[in-house]
This record gives sequence, C-alpha cells and structure tokens, in this order.
Amino acid sequence: MKKYNFNAGPSMLPREVIENTAKQCLDFNGSGLSLMEISHRAKDFQPVVDEAEALIKELLQVPEGYSVIFLGGGASLEFCMVPYNFLIKKAAYLNTGTWAKKALKEAKFFGDVVEVASSADANYTFIPKEWECPADADYLHITTNNTIYGTEIRKDLDVQVPMIADMSSDIFSRPIDIAKYDCIYAGAQKNLAMAGVTLVILKNEKLGKAPRQIPTMLDYRTHVEKGSMFNTPPVVPIYSALETLRWIKKNGGVEAMDKLALQRAEILYSEIDRNKMFRGTAVSEDRSVMNICFVMNDEYAELEKPFLDFAVGRGMVGIKGHRSVGGFRASCYNAQTIEGVNALVQAMKDFEAQH
Ligand SMILES: *Cc1c(COP(=O)(O)O)cnc(C)c1O
Repeated sequence: MKKYNFNAGPSMLPREVIENTAKQCLDFNGSGLSLMEISHRAKDFQPVVDEAEALIKELLQVPEGYSVIFLGGGASLEFCMVPYNFLIKKAAYLNTGTWAKKALKEAKFFGDVVEVASSADANYTFIPKEWECPADADYLHITTNNTIYGTEIRKDLDVQVPMIADMSSDIFSRPIDIAKYDCIYAGAQKNLAMAGVTLVILKNEKLGKAPRQIPTMLDYRTHVEKGSMFNTPPVVPIYSALETLRWIKKNGGVEAMDKLALQRAEILYSEIDRNKMFRGTAVSEDRSVMNICFVMNDEYAELEKPFLDFAVGRGMVGIKGHRSVGGFRASCYNAQTIEGVNALVQAMKDFEAQH
C-alpha cells in the first residue's frame, strides 16, 4: 500500500533526496568509499558544505554580512546559544508554544527576559497580536511556526529591535526578509534534511558583543571562523540537506514552495471546515500551513480512534495529534504532495459518509 507520510519530525523528504543520499552512502563520488567513512576534511567533502551554504544564500537571498553555518545539537541547543551570544542586558520573547517557552527558559540563565505576550492560557491556539516589544531589548525572539499547536507567523514582523527566530519547522517554505533578523536557526529534520544538523544564519557584526566569556564550542564565532569545520560536522545530514536544497532550487525555489504550501493547506483546511465531524484547533487567521491540527467535533468524540484506524488503513502515517492538543496533526512540509493531502481529504469524506 502506498504510504502518505504526515510525520511532524523527522518527517517526509523528497524521494530523490533519500535515493541520492543513499547512493553516496554506498559510494561517495565514485571513490569506492562511503560518505559515512570519509574525512570531513577530504577534498571531496568541502564542496558539499560550500554548495549547501551557497544554495542557502541564494534561495533565501541572504544579504552581505551574514554567515551560514551547520551545527550539531538540534534547535534545542540554540535555545541557549542564542542568549549566550546575543543577550547583552535584556531580551524579549514571544511565547507562542512549547518550543518558544523552552527558548525563553534558557534565556533566563543569561539576563533579563521579558515575555512580551503569551497565548499559553488559551492552549496556544493563537498568535498574540496586541503587544509591545521593549525598545531597549537586544532582540525579540519568535518561533515562526509552532509545530505542536499548528499556528504560524507567516509574515516577517515589523518591530523596532532585531529579531531572532526559530524557523525549525517552516524554513524554506516562504521567502524571508533576512535583514530583519540577527539570527535564524532551524533543526533540519522538519523541512530540510534527516535529523542531526542545525542550520544557523547569523549577522556577523552582532557577534562578540555579549559581555561574557563563552565556551569555545558554544561561541558562534568559532564555527563562523572555521566554516562549520571547527570539529567534525554531521557529514551525512549535511549531504542530505544539500540534496534537498538542490531539489528546492530545481522546483522553483522558496516562492514555489510557498505557493504549494498554501495550496495544500487550502485543500485540507477547506475539508476540515466543511466536514461536520471535524474542526480545526487554531484560530483561522493564525493557522499554520505546515502543521495542520484538527480534532473530532464533540458529538463525534468517540470516533477519534476509529478515524485514526481508518486513516492508517488508507496508508496515512503520523497523523495522530501531539498529546498536548489531541486529535490529529497532518504535517505538510515542503516534500508533502498535493496527492498526499487529497488522499487524506478523501479518507475524511469517506469516513463521514460511513457515519
Ligand atoms: C522540533 C522543533 C524544535 C526542537 O528541535 P531539536 O532539533 O529536536 O532540538 C525546536 N523548535 C521547533 C519550532 C521545532 O519544530
């Protein structure tokens, strides 16, 4: 049976990305060695890092004065590296979900932290709009896509301080005005690559300003200066990222990814809104186009498990909602196809017809 992968992360990747990475794992560039068993300093590997970096700069139109690096440790390590490197006195955080809250918690180790707004009391069903960012904050931290709660900030905000953003689950799904950010980071396993690498984009002139000593590995300058090669980088994940970046470029870049994301979301949200059995969990204007969360309407609550089984029987994988929201979550990252979304919609219609 054909499988439709709606996993939230690690998640679906384009088939050709997986196949090309697998090929290089068997025989890297015809060398007779696996990508897994070459030195990261081998002359064949440097071009992989260089091309990946160049493609990121090209696809996201990264302006002069920014560096692109690859790190280990996941987005979660950035929760502390960001304030370690950027918090001078005071930082502002917008609390829009589990990940935003975790980022905020780490910042408190380094200085004053202002929570500018929070939707925690409403189980993070919306993005707070009425708030002010202190003008003397070193940065405002936002989570552009709330992977667990299915809300998204899909437009670069206008604030009077530089922004730092966790874009783990929506990077490369739309054009970004990089100049508004001092730092953007993203764990790769949602929209870019297999797990194991984190992409970080940094504004160079903002590094080295924090009034504290930073251990070498946690200092962004270390990795910028050594071109992500201070220590052994995650070789295979970086290669898989390169394959995804090539795929994005071949398929029309982030503008095309944006269009497709909106199309997929339109198809699925329309069915959620039409189908009497389901309702979306996030307020309409803040709905994520990456993680589409929905639950059974109250009168059909006992059909949650039967629908899950029904959908699994149709080849759907990973649509069970996160435990903090319940119901269902269909993650529709760049690799997700219109066909996959249509298959889920058909399952929803057929299930409705049966009950
Ligand atoms: C998944 C996720 C994280 C955590 O990423 P790790 O790489 O597992 O540390 C952080 N932020 C967001 C928005 C995520 O979706």
